[in-house]
Amino acid sequence: MNFLNLFTRRRQMVQVESTKKDGFSGWIKCTKCEEMVHANELQSNHNCCPKCEHHYRLSAIQRADLLADEGTFEELFSEVHPKDPLTFVDSEPYIQRLERAQKKTGRNEAILAGTCEMGGNRVALGILDFGFMGGSMGSVVGERITLLIEHALKESIPVILVSSSGGARMQESVYSLMQMAKTSAALARLHNAGIPYISVLANPTTGGVTASFASLGDIMIAEPDALIGFAGPRVVEQTIRQKLPDTAQKSEFLLEKGMIDCIVKRGELKEKIVFFTEFLTGNQKLPEKNGKKVEQEKLDDLIALSQKEREKNAIKVSKP
Ligand SMILES: [Zn+2]
Repeated sequence: MNFLNLFTRRRQMVQVESTKKDGFSGWIKCTKCEEMVHANELQSNHNCCPKCEHHYRLSAIQRADLLADEGTFEELFSEVHPKDPLTFVDSEPYIQRLERAQKKTGRNEAILAGTCEMGGNRVALGILDFGFMGGSMGSVVGERITLLIEHALKESIPVILVSSSGGARMQESVYSLMQMAKTSAALARLHNAGIPYISVLANPTTGGVTASFASLGDIMIAEPDALIGFAGPRVVEQTIRQKLPDTAQKSEFLLEKGMIDCIVKRGELKEKIVFFTEFLTGNQKLPEKNGKKVEQEKLDDLIALSQKEREKNAIKVSKP
């Protein structure tokens, strides 16, 4: 054996399969285990490192592909567009930030909401997109989630929301904070009708999203090693002037403390959600509560009440 090769970098350590025009060879160094991983391998493994299973972020579309049965996802409420009610400017105008995020992601807001089949069962699926302004919840994200929950209530189908978000959208100030109450109230109505809601927490889920709909699931599922909390670890450390343990605010810690029900690897996520929805809805048709059928009238009342409440508190959103 030529020992020189072991201790020098003269020999190429990683065999590069192909090099594209932009110089990207397809090899990436995993930020967690620092092993070399090929982009194709990462992609076929649902964006998880094949060596250490570190879960990298998924866009909303990738997540929908992962969870929905092929060709069944239908997007809803994409006609509700974001606005800048406060003409907010920080280091740049909010409108400009929005435009940049829209260009980057090809989506008009930080949420993808719709209906689909999962394992053959019809569900309402909402997915936050961290790539769009940190998956933050502005008035349109809150509105679409609420509309989705109401749609699920009308159709009597389970709701699945996947969160990965920095929390409420600062640029919309109190309008974004109101979404916490609005989405929570809609989920309470869903609960009253006995329709299940499964909350999936991906890395990271923080702020006003954790403090509202993301924590209200009948079943709380988290991805491994996801940061989940209200304030981030840095803010907590600055406030209490103590160093937090490395494991604090991670899925594993929250499971130990009872805040979540289970940690599920991405590759098994769909199967697990299908299991829970089937377990919770049983063989009988929804809606049911405590084994008793919720009469259609009662359900209609709930929907009417929900619409009345919402009209009273409506925030103007532009429609094209
Ligand atoms: Zn790795």
